[in-house]
Amino acid sequence: MKLSYYLYDLYLRHTFGVAGFSRTFTPGVQVEIEHDGVVGYGEASLPPYLGETRESVISFLRKVSLKDIPAPFSLEEVLSSIDSIEAGNFAAKAALDIALHDLYGKLVDKPWYEIWGLNRQDTPYTSYTIGIDTPEVIRTKVKEVEGEFRILKVKLGSDRDKEIVRTIRRISDLPFTVDANQGWTDRVKALEMIHWLKEEGCILVEQPLPKERLEDSAWITQQSPLPVIADESVQRLKDIACIKGAFHGINIKLMKCTGMGEASKMIEAARREGMQVMLGCMTETSCAISAAAQLAPAVDHADLDGNLLIRNDLFRGMEIREGKVTLNERPGIGVLKLS
Ligand code: MG
Repeated sequence: MKLSYYLYDLYLRHTFGVAGFSRTFTPGVQVEIEHDGVVGYGEASLPPYLGETRESVISFLRKVSLKDIPAPFSLEEVLSSIDSIEAGNFAAKAALDIALHDLYGKLVDKPWYEIWGLNRQDTPYTSYTIGIDTPEVIRTKVKEVEGEFRILKVKLGSDRDKEIVRTIRRISDLPFTVDANQGWTDRVKALEMIHWLKEEGCILVEQPLPKERLEDSAWITQQSPLPVIADESVQRLKDIACIKGAFHGINIKLMKCTGMGEASKMIEAARREGMQVMLGCMTETSCAISAAAQLAPAVDHADLDGNLLIRNDLFRGMEIREGKVTLNERPGIGVLKLS
């Protein structure tokens, strides 16, 4: 098998704001793994707060050798040998994992939801993310997607939380989820805010407190009228045991958990603990989004809008139809490369 890669930055439709910073593009690396003329596609998306860079991804990819791996190959073995090359490098590993899954699915001529035994009709609605912005930008964004989405996701954790929610409420009555991105610090105020949000039509809250404050999160979770979902507090499979009791559910993202293989194991582990599962993303092309979407029939909540937030998508794959994650029947991760 032959591995190749190139830099590809993702340009955002709107400057993206979450608690703490804003930006206009997301650095990225595209990966291709070829065998016998069949190409599997993968990508690493590198939002700066996660600590990986284009340079770190390229340096990791240079340590990977796939040329002696025969096909058909054992995905499990190849992924575990890649994982053992070096700690960290989650997005770099995800890029390889996605490309290998895509290639594998194409070689056996099956989409991944089918290999996993999932029904492609069982996908949830996905939310559309509204970042922390001026009321004017928020109004523009909400109006842009009116009619297309059934759920909004609102980024909070600034000192203007209620103002942001009221701005949206004046022009839309869609249900919404909230992501505080660790932006709340006082657990009593956070719980009060969750009660207020429920009255406003909120259906779920993501990561209210800083990620290491598990006891305070458990205190909120025990009393919260809404499901409380861990995002920053849970990265990989091994973290699920550590957050038990502190949240009602977990948000799985390919770029933080090293890819589709580990994500599918995380869903099983979360279910064993009786936890809800949300599938999230970074700003990504339709490549990584379609890869994650293969797992959508197995989860409760989807936040797979990252490809819609960029203006230079490289692929066509999963689509949003009437707000629902819609999978096609193409093999692998179900993408076509554009141009
Ligand atoms: Mg989040």
